[in-house]
Amino acid sequence: MTDGVDTIAAIATGAGAAGVGAVRVSGPLAPAIATRFLGREPAPRHAHFAAFRDGAGELIDRGILLHFPAPHSYTGEHVVELQGHGSAVLLDALLRRCIELGARLARPGEFTERAFLNGKLDLAQAEAVADLVAATSQAGARAALRSMEGVFSARVDDLLAELIELRVHIEAAIDFPEEEIDFLADPIIGDKLALLRNHLDELLTETRRGVRLNDGIAVAIVGRPNAGKSSLLNALAGEERAIVTDIAGTTRDVLREAIHIDGVALELADTAGLRESDDIVEREGIRRARAQLERCDVALLVTDEAHADTDQAFFHGVPAHAARLVVINKIDLVSRHAQREGDTLWISARTGEGLDALRSRLRELATAGAGEGAFSARRRHVVALESVRGYLDHTADALHGTRSGELAAEELRHAQQALGEITGTYSSDDLLGAIFGSFCIGK
Ligand code: GDP
Ligand code: ZN
Repeated sequence: MTDGVDTIAAIATGAGAAGVGAVRVSGPLAPAIATRFLGREPAPRHAHFAAFRDGAGELIDRGILLHFPAPHSYTGEHVVELQGHGSAVLLDALLRRCIELGARLARPGEFTERAFLNGKLDLAQAEAVADLVAATSQAGARAALRSMEGVFSARVDDLLAELIELRVHIEAAIDFPEEEIDFLADPIIGDKLALLRNHLDELLTETRRGVRLNDGIAVAIVGRPNAGKSSLLNALAGEERAIVTDIAGTTRDVLREAIHIDGVALELADTAGLRESDDIVEREGIRRARAQLERCDVALLVTDEAHADTDQAFFHGVPAHAARLVVINKIDLVSRHAQREGDTLWISARTGEGLDALRSRLRELATAGAGEGAFSARRRHVVALESVRGYLDHTADALHGTRSGELAAEELRHAQQALGEITGTYSSDDLLGAIFGSFCIGK
């Protein structure tokens, strides 16, 4: 299986001094490299204590050598792991020796890419490996682990099976043109399609949550000029980043800040007052603000007591699945004010009053539903599922409207392809390059 494939090597452990470090080797030469280090052939999956020496016979380090013969390894190829002390100098010397013995430096993500190409894991699982390594919160790490173990992929595969079953029914109808209309009117087909769309919507909701667990939530701050949006962004980010002034329309671009609340990541964006403008620079800012609004998970309206009702108009353009929060700002200017009520919070971006309550509300929204069974996902997966939904809408139109089995079958073929892109059944070199290129080296 490894004919024509070269052997790759990389330091597999994190940078900096640590107790233990490891070099990982994968490919056809791995067993020969292991034999050179050990002085004899290594036993499969056995921890050998070995003296690692360089080409001149000088001792580099003593450590553990492990050999995982193909196909029972991470990559599906012959894999050898050399575990020594976690010094960058020692690990470099060890890696250099592996290169002398015929391996080449692995590219970022190349081990996992080989695991994918050898069918050890599908694309969504491979992405979860990188997400697990990069996880910054407990909930995020747990979710990434579930996706790595295939929880998300299994859900996609279930949907795929349902979709294929429907396709089979419809394609059977096409094969009998005289009876096609009757066939397509069969309630079984309508029922199956309705069920499929329900299941897709469920998965879409959970996948969006998976993206939130992975990337954190995208919060779009909306409201009138001078409401205090930039001030709030600064207060939450804890530094002077956005330009705060008394002149309406000063914030010309979408200002973004990545913050953490108890290990949960949030991306805050100040949408700079969405309003009509003749100014070109401002118009570009407005266009970006609108795009930001369309992909937000939470829309946060900054307003005051007097405008709280009319300012609801700023929620225009917020996607239906996003949460909406109303924040009454500048309470330091009023003598008495109401307390938190429903999804309205009272704050002062200037004095910091009420910000803790706002932070915990945002944290709640970010981790909502992250209990049992929550898996991690990426935006690419949401985009794929959204396009599947589009194709299923077209399928319904074809069945109920034009009553064309051909058209319905064609839409379902597209839907199947879009679903397959998630797990990598269908994938382009560009997509694989983008995914594995963003990995760290050694994974
Ligand atoms: P934006 O246009 O919505 O981004 O509003 P800014 O953040 O630029 O704030 C507009 C003005 O309101 C500035 O002068 C701020 O100092 C002031 N401001 C913002 N938040 C508060 C607050 O909580 N209390 C008071 N008194 N002034 C505030
Ligand atoms: Zn502003």
